[in-house]
Amino acid sequence: MPSYRDEGLVLRTHKLGEADRIITLLTREHGRVRAVAKGVRRTTSRFGARLEPGGHVDVMFAKGRTLDIVTQAESRGAYGAHAVGDYAAFTAVSAMLEAADRLVVEDGEPALQQFLLLLGGLRAICDQGRSPSQVLDAFLLRSLAVAGYAPSFEECARCGAPGPHQAFHASAGGMLCPDCRLPGSARPSAETVQVLGALLSGEWPVVEAADPRHLRQASGLVAAYLSWHLERGLTSLAVMER
Ligand SMILES: [Zn+2]
Repeated sequence: MPSYRDEGLVLRTHKLGEADRIITLLTREHGRVRAVAKGVRRTTSRFGARLEPGGHVDVMFAKGRTLDIVTQAESRGAYGAHAVGDYAAFTAVSAMLEAADRLVVEDGEPALQQFLLLLGGLRAICDQGRSPSQVLDAFLLRSLAVAGYAPSFEECARCGAPGPHQAFHASAGGMLCPDCRLPGSARPSAETVQVLGALLSGEWPVVEAADPRHLRQASGLVAAYLSWHLERGLTSLAVMER
């Protein structure tokens, strides 16, 4: 059976039969891969714990007829397990894993940027101790941008008129000028719009110096923007306390 090796992050798992699991991974070279891990639910399994959500693994797959099979998994890190004792970190990690799964459309299509964004975000929360909520918001905006839904926080999202503008509309793609403004637009504060731009471009000093009120308002708009593009929101975002 032909096989291949890759580095992956476990996005989710589900049960298959008595002892097996289907593991969904975002890999560095092969994009999203769904593969069967045999016997992982037995306590004697060689690699069961490495293939939990948030696990970072070097993995060997054997090509299967429908799903590939995990034949080896070596741990590089366990971001899900690291975050277990910290509710904010755990929910942010869960939301990032879920978003990565939803934003990558095709199995097996390379998605290197998504992989690097996810790995960077998990490290920022679990290794560097950054604010889970801020890292999550930055990750969501950048993942949406990589997926082709880059929000516009400066120019008008419809006509390109230079900003800053005052109206925000998720379905229109971001900020709107007075001419393009749609009914039902939100009117975030100027500081909130600045925070959104900084989250997208990774200007951490601006984000870290922001008032909690503006950060909360920005989180609400990020969630609205994400829900619009995903049709339904993330389950793990709904339980997040902000
Ligand atoms: Zn406009």
